[in-house]
Amino acid sequence: MRQPTGSNVPEDRSMKKMISIPVPKVCLRCGGVPTIRAHIIPKAFGRLIKARSSHNINITSHKIKETQLGIYDDGILCARCDNTLGNQYDEYGVSLCREFNTMCAKINEISYTINGADCDIVSRFVLSILWRASVTKRAEFESVNLGVYEHMVMDIIFNGVSLATFPEYQLLISRFRSEKISAELMYSLPIRARFGGHNCYNFALAGFRIAAIIDRQQLPDSFRPFIVNKNSAMKGLFAKLEDTNEFRGLLEMVRRH
Ligand SMILES: [Zn+2]
Repeated sequence: MRQPTGSNVPEDRSMKKMISIPVPKVCLRCGGVPTIRAHIIPKAFGRLIKARSSHNINITSHKIKETQLGIYDDGILCARCDNTLGNQYDEYGVSLCREFNTMCAKINEISYTINGADCDIVSRFVLSILWRASVTKRAEFESVNLGVYEHMVMDIIFNGVSLATFPEYQLLISRFRSEKISAELMYSLPIRARFGGHNCYNFALAGFRIAAIIDRQQLPDSFRPFIVNKNSAMKGLFAKLEDTNEFRGLLEMVRRH
């Protein structure tokens, strides 16, 4: 019987050596190094909802644990690009959530209006969260995948490309109402969902309910006044927290533990 020769051994070893070399982490925007711990939901939101508690609680379908300032990925952004998102969008997003009650100019039973809110920045801010959730390999965000739009969204949030180049994007921002629970003190991670047959990403963010529809099919005309990225005034509907899928999902996860 023919015995295997030793001629392949050095080659095998060199291959193993090649395989064991770690892939360098570079910034997905600029290609720079080093990368830093970039939070997917900006850590300022962790601070905001932590304001009245010693820690935040992280609830996922797998486990409940204490967390400080949320989930990060150390392989997506360098400090400069992470700061760009922080300075251009995250700070504004946090101030809008924090100051909702004082900024809200008009309010009635079903809707609110925030005069003076910059709809362009708000729309880019939500896109920047979806982009971070899309490029990360973290399992918690596996349902978020911008696919063919990922590169275009990067151009919009980093390079000032107009939102008008992305008509598939239709952003609705409702405001939670609840008599028993402070929705301002919670956020949820973006998940892929359906909104009346449209492809959508949903998440709760410090009192707001974000529905970012990304679909070639446009929403019915009745939604037009509330599409943040297609209006100059920011308007939204109220949503009873206990009636939403986000709340039902949260309850279901808590029950499982
Ligand atoms: Zn960079």
